[in-house]
Amino acid sequence: MDRHHQAGHLPTRFIADAMLGRLARWLRILGYDTAYEKAITDELLIERALREDRWLLTRDRCLTLRKLLRGRHTLIASDVVEGQLRQLHRDLKIDLDINRQRDYRCADCNVVLISISPEVAVPFIPPFVAQQYQTFLQCPQCCKVFWPGTHWEHLLTRLTAIRAER
Ligand SMILES: [Zn+2]
Repeated sequence: MDRHHQAGHLPTRFIADAMLGRLARWLRILGYDTAYEKAITDELLIERALREDRWLLTRDRCLTLRKLLRGRHTLIASDVVEGQLRQLHRDLKIDLDINRQRDYRCADCNVVLISISPEVAVPFIPPFVAQQYQTFLQCPQCCKVFWPGTHWEHLLTRLTAIRAER
C-alpha cells in the first residue's frame, strides 16, 4: 500500500459520487483504487469515504461543504471524462499512463487483476486472441479476461490525447 504514497500526501484511493461512474472506471483502469456505487445517499458516501480513508470526487458543490470531510475532496468541474481526468492530473498528480507501478484493476469491480497463463485464459477468450497473445490478466471477481489488444491500444491512444491537451 505504501508504495502508492511516493508523491507525498497526494491521495491515491478514491470514492466517486453517483455522477462520476465513467471517471471511476478510468481511474480503475489506471490502477487507482476507486470505490463507486450508482445509488448511495450523501450520508453513506461520506461515511464510506471516512471509514475507508478515500478521497471524495464529486460534482456536487454542497457535498464539499460538509465539515466531516475536512477538505478531503475534489470538486470536479467538467462534465466530460477527458476534462475530469485532466483536472485530476493537474490537481492531484494522477498519472495518466498505464504502467507497472500500479496494479491494473477491473473497471467493473475495482479488484486487482491477476496474471494468468494462456491455458487458463482459453475458455474465456475468442480463439484468434488465444493464438495471438501470451499475456493475460483476469479479474478474480467477475472472471473477465484482459489482453493487450485493440481495446488496450484504444485506451492508450485516448490517454495520450488527454495528456497532450494539458
Ligand atoms: Zn471484474
